[in-house]
Amino acid sequence: MMKSLLGLMARGGPRGRLSILIFHRVLPQPDPIFPDEMHAQRFEALCAWLARSFCVLPLDQAAARLCEGSLPARALCITFDDGYADNHDVALPILRRHGLCATFFVATGFLDGGRMWNDTLVEAVRRSPLDSLDPGGLEGGSGGPEAKKLSALPLASDAARRAAIDQLIGVAKYLPLADRVGFAEAVARASRARLPDDLMMRSAQVVALRRAGMTIGGHTVNHPILARLDRAQARQEIESGKAVLESLIQDPVTLFAYPNGKPGRDFLPEHAELVREAGFKFAVTTAPGAAGALTDRFRLPRFTPWDRSHWRFGLRLVRNLGTPATA
Ligand SMILES: [Zn+2]
Repeated sequence: MMKSLLGLMARGGPRGRLSILIFHRVLPQPDPIFPDEMHAQRFEALCAWLARSFCVLPLDQAAARLCEGSLPARALCITFDDGYADNHDVALPILRRHGLCATFFVATGFLDGGRMWNDTLVEAVRRSPLDSLDPGGLEGGSGGPEAKKLSALPLASDAARRAAIDQLIGVAKYLPLADRVGFAEAVARASRARLPDDLMMRSAQVVALRRAGMTIGGHTVNHPILARLDRAQARQEIESGKAVLESLIQDPVTLFAYPNGKPGRDFLPEHAELVREAGFKFAVTTAPGAAGALTDRFRLPRFTPWDRSHWRFGLRLVRNLGTPATA
Protein backbone atom coordinates (compact mmCIF):
# COMPACT_ATOMS: atom_id res chain seq x y z
CA MET A 1 0.00 0.00 0.00
CA MET A 2 2.74 2.45 1.03
CA LYS A 3 4.89 1.28 -1.86
CA SER A 4 2.12 1.89 -4.41
CA LEU A 5 1.31 5.27 -2.85
CA LEU A 6 4.97 6.22 -3.11
CA GLY A 7 5.09 4.86 -6.69
CA LEU A 8 2.16 7.08 -7.58
CA MET A 9 3.70 10.20 -6.03
CA ALA A 10 7.32 9.47 -6.96
CA ARG A 11 7.00 8.86 -10.67
CA GLY A 12 9.99 8.52 -12.92
CA GLY A 13 10.70 10.07 -16.32
CA PRO A 14 10.31 13.73 -17.30
CA ARG A 15 7.83 14.34 -14.44
CA GLY A 16 10.07 12.49 -11.99
CA ARG A 17 10.44 13.67 -8.39
CA LEU A 18 13.59 13.15 -6.37
CA SER A 19 13.54 12.75 -2.56
CA ILE A 20 16.85 13.59 -0.88
CA LEU A 21 17.21 12.69 2.81
CA ILE A 22 19.48 14.60 5.26
CA PHE A 23 21.23 12.92 8.16
CA HIS A 24 23.85 14.32 10.54
CA ARG A 25 24.91 11.80 13.17
CA VAL A 26 24.19 8.08 13.54
CA LEU A 27 25.03 7.26 17.17
CA PRO A 28 26.16 3.77 18.17
CA GLN A 29 23.46 3.68 20.90
CA PRO A 30 20.40 5.81 21.71
CA ASP A 31 21.29 9.06 23.49
CA PRO A 32 19.36 9.60 26.78
CA ILE A 33 19.71 13.39 26.42
CA PHE A 34 18.57 13.47 22.78
CA PRO A 35 16.25 10.46 22.43
CA ASP A 36 15.16 11.52 18.92
CA GLU A 37 18.71 11.48 17.52
CA MET A 38 19.33 8.78 14.91
CA HIS A 39 21.14 5.70 16.21
CA ALA A 40 22.43 2.43 14.75
CA GLN A 41 19.38 0.28 15.44
CA ARG A 42 16.92 2.80 13.96
CA PHE A 43 19.21 3.49 11.03
CA GLU A 44 19.49 -0.24 10.31
CA ALA A 45 15.69 -0.61 10.19
CA LEU A 46 15.33 2.57 8.12
CA CYS A 47 17.95 1.39 5.60
CA ALA A 48 16.26 -2.01 5.25
CA TRP A 49 12.99 -0.20 4.45
CA LEU A 50 14.66 2.27 2.06
CA ALA A 51 16.38 -0.58 0.19
CA ARG A 52 13.02 -2.41 -0.20
CA SER A 53 10.86 0.56 -1.09
CA PHE A 54 13.02 2.98 -3.10
CA CYS A 55 15.47 3.20 -5.94
CA VAL A 56 18.41 4.65 -3.99
CA LEU A 57 20.89 6.36 -6.32
CA PRO A 58 24.15 8.30 -5.90
CA LEU A 59 23.19 11.99 -5.73
CA ASP A 60 25.30 13.09 -8.71
CA GLN A 61 23.69 10.43 -10.93
CA ALA A 62 20.19 11.13 -9.66
CA ALA A 63 20.56 14.89 -10.14
CA ALA A 64 21.90 14.42 -13.69
CA ARG A 65 19.03 12.07 -14.57
CA LEU A 66 16.54 14.50 -13.02
CA CYS A 67 17.79 17.24 -15.38
CA GLU A 68 17.66 14.86 -18.38
CA GLY A 69 14.15 13.70 -17.49
CA SER A 70 15.23 10.07 -17.06
CA LEU A 71 14.82 9.64 -13.29
CA PRO A 72 13.56 6.17 -12.27
CA ALA A 73 10.35 5.90 -10.21
CA ARG A 74 10.71 6.17 -6.39
CA ALA A 75 14.17 7.73 -6.75
CA LEU A 76 15.82 8.66 -3.46
CA CYS A 77 19.23 9.85 -2.29
CA ILE A 78 20.82 9.66 1.16
CA THR A 79 23.05 12.52 2.38
CA PHE A 80 24.97 13.27 5.58
CA ASP A 81 26.11 16.76 6.62
CA ASP A 82 29.13 18.02 8.56
CA GLY A 83 31.51 15.02 8.66
CA TYR A 84 30.88 13.21 11.97
CA ALA A 85 33.16 10.23 12.68
CA ASP A 86 30.10 8.06 13.36
CA ASN A 87 29.22 8.44 9.66
CA HIS A 88 32.26 6.26 8.94
CA ASP A 89 32.19 4.08 12.05
CA VAL A 90 28.45 3.44 12.44
CA ALA A 91 26.57 4.45 9.25
CA LEU A 92 28.96 3.07 6.63
CA PRO A 93 28.79 -0.63 7.67
CA ILE A 94 24.97 -0.40 7.80
CA LEU A 95 24.73 1.26 4.38
CA ARG A 96 27.01 -1.40 2.90
CA ARG A 97 25.00 -4.23 4.44
CA HIS A 98 21.94 -2.94 2.61
CA GLY A 99 23.76 -2.16 -0.63
CA LEU A 100 23.00 1.58 -0.31
CA CYS A 101 25.12 4.53 -1.38
CA ALA A 102 25.22 7.98 0.22
CA THR A 103 26.85 11.39 -0.12
CA PHE A 104 28.81 12.85 2.80
CA PHE A 105 29.12 16.65 2.92
CA VAL A 106 32.23 17.44 4.96
CA ALA A 107 33.22 20.80 6.52
CA THR A 108 37.00 20.41 6.24
CA GLY A 109 37.99 22.76 9.09
CA PHE A 110 36.83 20.23 11.71
CA LEU A 111 38.62 17.16 10.30
CA ASP A 112 41.30 15.52 12.46
CA GLY A 113 40.28 16.60 15.95
CA GLY A 114 38.04 19.66 15.46
CA ARG A 115 34.65 20.28 17.03
CA MET A 116 31.70 22.43 15.99
CA TRP A 117 30.62 25.07 18.57
CA ASN A 118 27.23 23.46 19.17
CA ASP A 119 28.93 20.14 19.97
CA THR A 120 31.27 21.93 22.39
CA LEU A 121 28.18 23.14 24.29
CA VAL A 122 26.43 19.76 24.12
CA GLU A 123 29.45 17.79 25.30
CA ALA A 124 30.39 20.33 28.00
CA VAL A 125 26.93 20.00 29.55
CA ARG A 126 26.67 16.24 28.98
CA ARG A 127 30.06 15.47 30.54
CA SER A 128 30.14 18.08 33.31
CA PRO A 129 30.76 16.62 36.79
CA LEU A 130 28.91 19.65 38.30
CA ASP A 131 25.32 19.81 39.63
CA SER A 132 24.74 23.20 38.08
CA LEU A 133 26.38 25.60 35.68
CA ASP A 134 26.26 29.38 35.96
CA PRO A 135 26.64 31.08 32.56
CA GLY A 136 26.00 34.49 34.19
CA GLY A 137 29.34 34.15 35.97
CA LEU A 138 31.48 33.20 32.95
CA GLU A 139 34.98 34.64 32.93
CA GLY A 140 35.36 37.99 31.17
CA GLY A 141 31.60 38.32 30.61
CA SER A 142 31.70 35.81 27.71
CA GLY A 143 28.33 35.58 26.07
CA GLY A 144 27.53 39.20 26.80
CA PRO A 145 24.30 40.48 28.35
CA GLU A 146 22.22 37.51 27.13
CA ALA A 147 24.36 35.03 29.08
CA LYS A 148 24.22 37.33 32.15
CA LYS A 149 20.42 37.06 32.11
CA LEU A 150 20.60 33.26 32.48
CA SER A 151 20.42 32.02 36.04
CA ALA A 152 22.38 28.95 37.13
CA LEU A 153 21.38 25.94 35.02
CA PRO A 154 20.67 22.74 36.97
CA LEU A 155 22.34 19.60 35.62
CA ALA A 156 20.83 17.02 37.96
CA SER A 157 19.04 14.88 35.34
CA ASP A 158 19.14 14.10 31.61
CA ALA A 159 16.09 16.31 31.13
CA ALA A 160 17.77 19.18 33.02
CA ARG A 161 20.92 18.79 30.94
CA ARG A 162 18.84 18.83 27.77
CA ALA A 163 17.12 22.06 28.92
CA ALA A 164 20.51 23.61 29.78
CA ILE A 165 21.87 22.74 26.32
CA ASP A 166 18.80 24.26 24.63
CA GLN A 167 19.21 27.50 26.62
CA LEU A 168 22.94 27.80 25.95
CA ILE A 169 22.52 27.12 22.22
CA GLY A 170 19.73 29.71 22.17
CA VAL A 171 22.13 32.33 23.56
CA ALA A 172 25.08 31.31 21.36
CA LYS A 173 23.08 31.29 18.12
CA TYR A 174 22.59 35.06 18.20
CA LEU A 175 26.21 35.98 18.93
CA PRO A 176 28.63 36.96 16.13
CA LEU A 177 30.76 33.97 15.04
CA ALA A 178 33.94 34.81 16.99
CA ASP A 179 31.96 35.51 20.20
CA ARG A 180 29.97 32.32 19.72
CA VAL A 181 33.12 30.18 19.66
CA GLY A 182 34.49 32.14 22.67
CA PHE A 183 31.22 31.63 24.55
CA ALA A 184 31.21 27.87 23.84
CA GLU A 185 34.81 27.61 25.04
CA ALA A 186 34.09 29.61 28.21
CA VAL A 187 31.12 27.32 28.97
CA ALA A 188 33.36 24.31 28.33
CA ARG A 189 35.95 25.59 30.83
CA ALA A 190 33.29 26.42 33.42
CA SER A 191 31.74 22.94 33.01
CA ARG A 192 35.02 21.26 34.01
CA ALA A 193 34.19 18.54 31.46
CA ARG A 194 36.80 16.71 29.43
CA LEU A 195 35.74 17.27 25.82
CA PRO A 196 36.14 14.69 23.05
CA ASP A 197 38.36 15.39 20.06
CA ASP A 198 37.14 12.47 17.98
CA LEU A 199 33.58 13.57 17.16
CA MET A 200 34.45 14.51 13.58
CA MET A 201 36.14 12.35 10.95
CA ARG A 202 39.84 12.06 10.48
CA SER A 203 41.10 12.62 6.93
CA ALA A 204 41.71 8.88 6.50
CA GLN A 205 38.04 8.17 7.26
CA VAL A 206 36.94 10.51 4.44
CA VAL A 207 39.24 8.59 2.10
CA ALA A 208 37.83 5.29 3.40
CA LEU A 209 34.24 6.44 2.67
CA ARG A 210 35.26 7.27 -0.89
CA ARG A 211 37.06 3.93 -1.32
CA ALA A 212 33.90 2.18 -0.13
CA GLY A 213 32.06 3.71 -3.11
CA MET A 214 30.44 6.63 -1.26
CA THR A 215 30.41 10.22 -2.60
CA ILE A 216 32.14 13.13 -0.83
CA GLY A 217 30.66 16.63 -1.18
CA GLY A 218 31.73 20.16 -0.20
CA HIS A 219 30.30 21.91 2.89
CA THR A 220 32.81 24.83 3.24
CA VAL A 221 35.75 24.92 5.68
CA ASN A 222 34.32 26.45 8.88
CA HIS A 223 30.57 25.94 8.36
CA PRO A 224 29.74 29.70 8.35
CA ILE A 225 26.35 31.16 7.51
CA LEU A 226 27.36 32.31 4.01
CA ALA A 227 24.83 35.14 4.02
CA ARG A 228 26.76 36.80 6.86
CA LEU A 229 30.16 36.78 5.10
CA ASP A 230 31.48 39.22 2.55
CA ARG A 231 31.85 37.91 -0.99
CA ALA A 232 35.60 37.21 -0.78
CA GLN A 233 35.25 35.26 2.47
CA ALA A 234 32.31 33.27 1.11
CA ARG A 235 34.24 32.40 -2.04
CA GLN A 236 37.25 31.36 0.04
CA GLU A 237 35.13 29.09 2.28
CA ILE A 238 33.48 27.41 -0.72
CA GLU A 239 36.66 27.00 -2.81
CA SER A 240 39.09 25.96 -0.03
CA GLY A 241 36.74 23.28 1.30
CA LYS A 242 36.51 21.84 -2.22
CA ALA A 243 40.29 21.93 -2.76
CA VAL A 244 41.05 20.17 0.55
CA LEU A 245 38.57 17.36 -0.20
CA GLU A 246 39.84 16.93 -3.77
CA SER A 247 43.42 16.61 -2.60
CA LEU A 248 42.30 14.01 -0.03
CA ILE A 249 40.21 11.79 -2.28
CA GLN A 250 42.12 12.56 -5.52
CA ASP A 251 38.85 12.99 -7.38
CA PRO A 252 36.71 15.97 -8.43
CA VAL A 253 34.16 17.11 -5.81
CA THR A 254 31.03 18.16 -7.73
CA LEU A 255 28.33 18.33 -5.04
CA PHE A 256 27.86 21.06 -2.41
CA ALA A 257 25.59 21.51 0.62
CA TYR A 258 25.02 25.06 1.99
CA PRO A 259 25.77 25.29 5.76
CA ASN A 260 22.44 25.50 7.64
CA GLY A 261 20.96 25.64 4.16
CA LYS A 262 17.78 27.76 4.30
CA PRO A 263 17.50 29.72 1.01
CA GLY A 264 17.18 33.47 1.50
CA ARG A 265 18.28 33.24 5.14
CA ASP A 266 21.49 31.18 5.35
CA PHE A 267 22.56 31.73 1.74
CA LEU A 268 21.56 34.09 -1.08
CA PRO A 269 21.46 33.81 -4.88
CA GLU A 270 25.00 35.23 -5.10
CA HIS A 271 26.28 32.25 -3.06
CA ALA A 272 24.66 29.78 -5.46
CA GLU A 273 26.56 31.67 -8.17
CA LEU A 274 29.87 31.33 -6.25
CA VAL A 275 29.20 27.60 -5.85
CA ARG A 276 28.67 27.27 -9.62
CA GLU A 277 31.80 29.33 -10.36
CA ALA A 278 33.85 27.10 -8.01
CA GLY A 279 33.07 24.18 -10.33
CA PHE A 280 30.33 22.37 -8.43
CA LYS A 281 27.61 20.80 -10.61
CA PHE A 282 24.78 20.54 -8.07
CA ALA A 283 24.00 21.96 -4.63
CA VAL A 284 21.51 20.97 -1.94
CA THR A 285 19.63 23.12 0.60
CA THR A 286 17.60 22.33 3.73
CA ALA A 287 14.36 23.69 2.27
CA PRO A 288 11.73 20.93 2.35
CA GLY A 289 10.31 19.48 -0.85
CA ALA A 290 11.18 17.08 -3.65
CA ALA A 291 13.13 18.21 -6.72
CA GLY A 292 11.58 18.08 -10.19
CA ALA A 293 13.10 18.55 -13.65
CA LEU A 294 12.60 22.32 -13.42
CA THR A 295 14.16 22.76 -9.96
CA ASP A 296 17.29 24.96 -9.96
CA ARG A 297 20.20 22.49 -9.79
CA PHE A 298 21.94 24.72 -7.25
CA ARG A 299 18.90 24.62 -4.94
CA LEU A 300 17.87 20.97 -4.64
CA PRO A 301 15.60 20.64 -1.58
CA ARG A 302 16.06 17.96 1.09
CA PHE A 303 13.98 16.21 3.71
CA THR A 304 14.81 15.16 7.32
CA PRO A 305 13.74 11.65 8.33
CA TRP A 306 12.85 11.73 12.02
CA ASP A 307 9.75 9.58 12.40
CA ARG A 308 10.18 6.35 14.33
CA SER A 309 7.61 4.39 12.34
CA HIS A 310 8.14 3.71 8.65
CA TRP A 311 4.46 4.17 8.06
CA ARG A 312 4.48 7.75 9.40
CA PHE A 313 7.76 8.45 7.70
CA GLY A 314 6.30 7.15 4.42
CA LEU A 315 3.26 9.40 4.76
CA ARG A 316 5.43 12.42 5.49
CA LEU A 317 7.58 11.56 2.49
CA VAL A 318 4.48 11.36 0.27
CA ARG A 319 3.42 14.80 1.56
CA ASN A 320 6.93 16.12 0.91
CA LEU A 321 6.76 14.82 -2.67
CA GLY A 322 3.70 16.99 -3.15
CA THR A 323 5.56 20.10 -1.93
CA PRO A 324 6.84 22.10 -4.88
CA ALA A 325 10.50 23.08 -4.49
CA THR A 326 10.83 26.77 -3.66
CA ALA A 327 13.30 28.38 -6.04
ZN1 LIG B 1 26.12 21.41 8.22
